[in-house]
Amino acid sequence: MIDVAIIGGGVSGLAAAYALQRQGRRVLVLERQARTGGNAVSERIDGFLMEHGPSTVAAESTAACELSQALGLDAGKCDLGAGVRRRYLVGEGRLRGIPAHPMGFLATNYLSLGARLRMLAEPLVPRGADDTRESIAEFCTRRFGREFTERVIDPLVAGIYAGRADELSVGAAFPKLVGLERRYGSITIGMFRRRLEGARMPSSRLFSWQGGIGTLPNALTRALGESVRTGVAVRRIEASASGFMIDAGEAGSFAARSVIVATQPHVAARLLEGVDEAAADAAGGIAAPPLAVAFLGYRREQVAHPLDGLGFLVPQGEARSLTGAQFCSTMFPGRAPQGCVAVAGYFGGARAPHLARLPAAELIELARQEFADLIGAKGEPVVARVRHWPLGLPQYRHGHGDRTAVLEGLSGNLPGLFVTGNYLAGPSVAACLGQAQAVAVAALDRLAQSAPAVRISLLR
Ligand SMILES: Cc1cc2nc3c(=O)[nH]c(=O)nc-3n(C[C@H](O)[C@H](O)[C@H](O)COP(=O)(O)OP(=O)(O)OC[C@H]3O[C@@H](n4cnc5c(N)ncnc54)[C@H](O)[C@@H]3O)c2cc1C
Repeated sequence: MIDVAIIGGGVSGLAAAYALQRQGRRVLVLERQARTGGNAVSERIDGFLMEHGPSTVAAESTAACELSQALGLDAGKCDLGAGVRRRYLVGEGRLRGIPAHPMGFLATNYLSLGARLRMLAEPLVPRGADDTRESIAEFCTRRFGREFTERVIDPLVAGIYAGRADELSVGAAFPKLVGLERRYGSITIGMFRRRLEGARMPSSRLFSWQGGIGTLPNALTRALGESVRTGVAVRRIEASASGFMIDAGEAGSFAARSVIVATQPHVAARLLEGVDEAAADAAGGIAAPPLAVAFLGYRREQVAHPLDGLGFLVPQGEARSLTGAQFCSTMFPGRAPQGCVAVAGYFGGARAPHLARLPAAELIELARQEFADLIGAKGEPVVARVRHWPLGLPQYRHGHGDRTAVLEGLSGNLPGLFVTGNYLAGPSVAACLGQAQAVAVAALDRLAQSAPAVRISLLR
């Protein structure tokens, strides 16, 4: 019998499976698609490298760094290119270079003088009531003022969550900010004090691999070997006397002592129906509005902007179709052929889901117009490709904490059944890897606890 069956072969499922396999457990990953990786897909197109989903991993992620080393990927690791000198926000219809630290906004005129004075007053704002329904926008407006929230925080939320600051729960999406306010009464003072106390501040260092983020799931899949089966869509999970039965239709049934559901939340909801209704409802309540990525390659001379940064984010008030863009060929080497540049534009999310459903040709045209306007890109791109994600990133809205508490308590009701994925500890690849490893440890504990019970029943 398989020790642990993992349903879903994205980075979360593969990382959980690899952690278990390294502990000598028999694992089986069942992936619906013909290839593993889920969101993490890197594709070479005529000498360009397109990231369909994630393009960076946070360098402070211990889980990602350990995996890179264990899988022998360190030689191909690449840090952000030397050309990444700035970050940009769109303001008054053009790209505006912004400081790396929030307080750096005080020294720029991206925000009005009134808004900058309001930011300065943050330490004087009294601590808020413990309001678990407070949105990111409410929290940040209360502490830093409306203009900072609308012109800095909301585009950041669009970049990280493909969400809206007025919809996402601050407690679920940015728990560290809430923690700073509770402990120090002020975010500014809290960050300052934490620094003095020697705490490691969140770093903005990012990395990838020469072959793109897809390098990681590909290497995990190779390492897992025959323990990965693709083209297998799981339909149902049932509890059995010895653990669980997994029904994968024509692909067959699989018995496992433990199961980790590592799919998107809406699939987890379907699989948990009939096993644990409360958990199924909790997963089903997590929205994931559609997203689309338009990847455009140009000859260098077609683009006027120096592209000397990561890319740009767009505040909602700018009324643009793009939520943001990345300067892919500046970020990492080898993303465009000699003499060319690559730019990726992001559409949709909670801000404008209808845009992410437009046909590829329309999205390419929209991206072309936006890039012409914002970075001076002229003429036809040499490469243009669109990736639609009908269900993009999970939205950590009001009640998210209650939902994840139910999902994390799943194994209390049904020992041996776990969920993992980007809707639990954060949407980033780094958060997924950390969460997957924690679930693997919980599954190992469960296997260790259940082993003597099985032996005793056999002896009888
Ligand atoms: C456009 C985009 C850009 C992003 N950019 C970044 C970034 O730069 N940095 C970053 O850190 N993060 C980024 N993210 C977020 C990050 O990529 C994802 O949160 C993460 O990859 C999710 O991994 P996962 O394994 O949890 O889920 P998924 O990747 O969704 O994997 C779930 C898997 O389950 C499989 N599955 C579904 N149903 C079944 C079934 N019935 N049976 C078997 N298998 C099934 C699916 O086919 C899929 O392979 C981005 C995401 C997107 C979409």
